[in-house]
Amino acid sequence: MNIIEKINDLFPSTLTTEEIESRYTPRPEGHVVTRIAPSPTGMMHIGSVYAALISERVAHLAKGTFMLRIEDTDSKREVDGATEVIINGLENFNITSDEGPTSTGEEKGKYGPYTQSKRKDIYLAYIKQLLEKDLAYPCFCSQEELEEIRDKQTKQGMRTGYYGDWAKFRKAPKEIVADHIEKGTPFTIRLRSSGKHFNKRQFEDLIKGKRNLPENDADIVILKASGLPTYHFAHAIDDHFMGTTHVIRGDEWLSSLPLHIQLFETLGWKAPHFAHISPIEIMDDGKRRKLSKRKDPEASVTYYEDKGYPKEAVIEYLMNLANSTFEAFRVENPSESVWNFPFELQKLGRSGSLLDLIKLDSMSRDFIGRLSAQEVYDQLIEWAENMEPELFERMQQDRDYFINIFKIEREGVERVRKDFANWSTIWQELDYFFDDAFTPEDDYIVKITEQKPEIAKAFLSDFIENYDDTLDNEAWFGNMKELAGKHGFAKNGKVYKKDPDSYNGTIADAAKMLRVAITGKAQTPDLYSLMMVMGKERVLNRLNASI
Ligand code: GLU
Repeated sequence: MNIIEKINDLFPSTLTTEEIESRYTPRPEGHVVTRIAPSPTGMMHIGSVYAALISERVAHLAKGTFMLRIEDTDSKREVDGATEVIINGLENFNITSDEGPTSTGEEKGKYGPYTQSKRKDIYLAYIKQLLEKDLAYPCFCSQEELEEIRDKQTKQGMRTGYYGDWAKFRKAPKEIVADHIEKGTPFTIRLRSSGKHFNKRQFEDLIKGKRNLPENDADIVILKASGLPTYHFAHAIDDHFMGTTHVIRGDEWLSSLPLHIQLFETLGWKAPHFAHISPIEIMDDGKRRKLSKRKDPEASVTYYEDKGYPKEAVIEYLMNLANSTFEAFRVENPSESVWNFPFELQKLGRSGSLLDLIKLDSMSRDFIGRLSAQEVYDQLIEWAENMEPELFERMQQDRDYFINIFKIEREGVERVRKDFANWSTIWQELDYFFDDAFTPEDDYIVKITEQKPEIAKAFLSDFIENYDDTLDNEAWFGNMKELAGKHGFAKNGKVYKKDPDSYNGTIADAAKMLRVAITGKAQTPDLYSLMMVMGKERVLNRLNASI
């Protein structure tokens, strides 16, 4: 039995390379095709969303095709439901793939299957082809033997790997191979590399530019003992048949570029363009480092979901991270969709981009500031349904009240108030609108009146007596000023400072008393507007309770 017969015996498949080649029609010339190819590990990394966004933009801005491919050949790392996490994650962010697995369980597109575990026969056909051409060979080394080789290399201060004379089975005599096949020794299939490590070649990367990298001389594993291909091999086969024109991925793969180009060449195919994205980094103890899945909660998209950053705000933030020109675009086009931004791959930085959560907050405030009261309501309730069931119920019951609250300093104003950075902090900004949630400290009025409770009491009582909710903002403010004057508050700071002993403070101090009495907070949106939304009864109850 030779090695091909052994493979057929272990992993029966009759699919031929001719059949595969006739199965896929080449895509039209010039049609841009990109893909995101995540491994289903159970968590969606913000870096994957970033890479997906970039790949999607490159394809769709060129009227091309964006694919999702699930790279699940490493069954050890696989987690149940992980593919759904990816599909839903991308859908949530409105990053739409034209081809690939979908949430219904069916795949769309003519270049599938788009899940590597369903493509075993395709890989096997090319493994056998390379074996026939002697461009690959079986290796019967055990794990221990490979470790021994590595130890020896390390001790001798040499480069580790299965290359040159270290490649034990590269020149193994036929009889030895036959003997192992006979005995049933587990084997992998390795590439017979023709590369020379001392040969440097120039590679062109669409983000990193020209790079001189050594050729690959390692006889890397292309088929594992399980009959599944390694990532390197599978990616070349898939990107060829799926017609990928631009492989856009994290720069941890940049050092594999010589190997990947070599694989395309060995298989006799044209390699796609490559673009390696610099990682998202964070500051740790004064030093920049790559965002880590293990150490940093903000590496996972659930961090942004839990905090309730609007999906579009996160996308805008990532877009800004990719192309710093986004900010100027946003200023010039405040109402334009982020998807109309003329993104350019070449504008990505060659080194890492720093994750700046303060910037995210500020972009998110701007984003929420651009929404109508109805949109704020709709997006908040959608978030609250999963994250804050109590708030969700309250919002369902008091829909109009909530919308009116959101209208304050939002609709019909020149400058929108931007106090909402994300959905999870909104409730604490507006809980005072609800009697059961209004829980100010006992001495809240005394504190704010700087130990002058009798003055506060007199002013607030008079205010209660004269309260008229039919007045417009201007008339109301006129009345309030008059009343404050009557109670010894100077009409402005200048007047007060000239003769502080004759006054109890300024009008602003009087207004602050009202604000604190009604809301329990020293800072709120426009007082008149919030009183109108709260309604006379609630306002008077609050004022009465405070004196
Ligand atoms: N499965 C690889 C990963 O998750 C994909 C790399 C690529 O895009 O080619 O890193």
